[in-house]
Amino acid sequence: MSETYTGGCACGAIRYEISGEPIFSNHCQCRDCQRESGTGHSSYLTVRREHVTLSGHAATWDMVGDSGNVKTRAFCPTCGLAVYLTFAGMPDLVAIRATSLDDPSRYKPQAVTYAMRGHAWDYLDPALPKFDKMPQA
Ligand SMILES: [Zn+2]
Ligand SMILES: [Zn+2]
Repeated sequence: MSETYTGGCACGAIRYEISGEPIFSNHCQCRDCQRESGTGHSSYLTVRREHVTLSGHAATWDMVGDSGNVKTRAFCPTCGLAVYLTFAGMPDLVAIRATSLDDPSRYKPQAVTYAMRGHAWDYLDPALPKFDKMPQA
């Protein structure tokens, strides 16, 4: 049994617990992630929805990603922190923002996605495999 991952938004109104290990951990350099993070990428742990227990009310915003698929950004209406993403085409997955973990040092990135959108100044570990877009699950 691995230790539960816990985290939430900056003000504490949204909290989550994840049982089980992430199935994918990536830095994403797509334009949406750049805009939302304020820098060159966002970092996610993708987990199975059945392993996530959420509390608190998240506001949501639907957008069409680079892939053409609808993704829903869930954020705290009080502090504004974006906590997780869900995907219309993959309803059993949740992408949690690594920086919302109570202990972000537990995050272990495995890959860089949308590297084709990355900027030279957003330098990431060259040992990580890079994908132009999002690899198909
Ligand atoms: Zn909040
Ligand atoms: Zn992205």
